[in-house]
Amino acid sequence: MIPRLAELNPVQTLYMDFIDTLRHQGFEGDLNPDYANRVVLATDNSIYQILPQGVLYPKKVSDLEKIARLADQPRFHSIVLSARGGGTGTNGQSLTDGLIVDCSKYMNRILEINPHERWVRVQAGVVKDQLNAALKPYGLFFAPELSTSNRATIGGMINTDASGQGSVLYGKTRDHVLELDSIWLGGERWLSGALSEERLVEIKQQPDRIGEIHRELDDLFQQNQVLIESSFPKLNRCLTGYDLAHIRDESGRFNLNSILCGAEGSLAFIAEAKLNVLPIPKYAALVNIKYTSFESSLRDAKSLMDWQPTSIETIDSKVLNLPWAISSGIACGPIFHNVMMNPLSVVLT
Ligand SMILES: Cc1cc2nc3c(=O)[nH]c(=O)nc-3n(C[C@H](O)[C@H](O)[C@H](O)COP(=O)(O)OP(=O)(O)OC[C@H]3O[C@@H](n4cnc5c(N)ncnc54)[C@H](O)[C@@H]3O)c2cc1C
Repeated sequence: MIPRLAELNPVQTLYMDFIDTLRHQGFEGDLNPDYANRVVLATDNSIYQILPQGVLYPKKVSDLEKIARLADQPRFHSIVLSARGGGTGTNGQSLTDGLIVDCSKYMNRILEINPHERWVRVQAGVVKDQLNAALKPYGLFFAPELSTSNRATIGGMINTDASGQGSVLYGKTRDHVLELDSIWLGGERWLSGALSEERLVEIKQQPDRIGEIHRELDDLFQQNQVLIESSFPKLNRCLTGYDLAHIRDESGRFNLNSILCGAEGSLAFIAEAKLNVLPIPKYAALVNIKYTSFESSLRDAKSLMDWQPTSIETIDSKVLNLPWAISSGIACGPIFHNVMMNPLSVVLT
């Protein structure tokens, strides 16, 4: 005898109701409350495992609008949504016991490449390596680097303000975001970028949620400018979270993207992005420097930075003496290496 399935509890009933309502409203992507989809997306690259109530795969921006509009209805206020890209985040950011909104399955198209003005417009689910492969024939690339580039999506990179090797030269994702097309709770769609003071004043007068966000953020910044200036660390790769310190750019223009980049999906769904792209460097060089101790290699790193490397990697003898390193002939006994790569600059290993 197959045991009878237990009745749905009230929480599950609410989520099923949400999913059914989306279906009736013409949601065009996939709505998956089934166990198989839930189990697959119960994990990401963190140590956590949380079973969601269901997985939604939006096909179009209008699907994201439908989700956000419905979630704003009072009867669905307790519904929890979490956007997801490649699921490579290490802190469990994309996990939820509510609904996963996975943008990587369908919303993964490169919409426009403008090689003359050096920008590209993409959907949030585009993977970083996919984008760079498409840009390569134009001699261009999207510069922010991260180790998970064959999985991580632009939506995930924006929301974690990703950066990695080369960040000393190329900065973080935020430094390359020109415009963000986002969907806010209630279903409002908003295109954000650097604003003139006149435009900011206009937007702040809007009676909707977008107006409220601009009013609140600008007030928060004005009232706490001194505190923000004194307490936010002055680091090149300092934080994810709401980067209030950079809400106004070098020329003083208000830019909501500074808050959206690094917001970990907590403010809005990112649907599309217009990104700045750069010419692929003509030359690259990798310099290997061997040291007798880890300490001396680290001591040198500071002066090697004077050569403006794109990155410095330190690899210790433990790694170098792993079987693959020995078979590839680069193992070196107890000696530590500092390698330096150099496109326009220097790198240490
Ligand atoms: C081995 C390894 C190496 C890594 N190396 C680096 C590195 O070098 N540099 C670095 O910065 N990070 C690194 N990471 C972390 C991770 O790869 C990045 O955070 C990456 O940007 C996440 O992208 P993702 O598409 O996988 O996003 P996910 O993990 O799916 O999501 C990350 C966050 O973004 C939100 N999100 C995703 N898509 C959207 C969307 N469309 N709208 C709104 N919110 C959204 C999610 O809700 C979540 O909060 C590494 C991770 C691993 C496992």
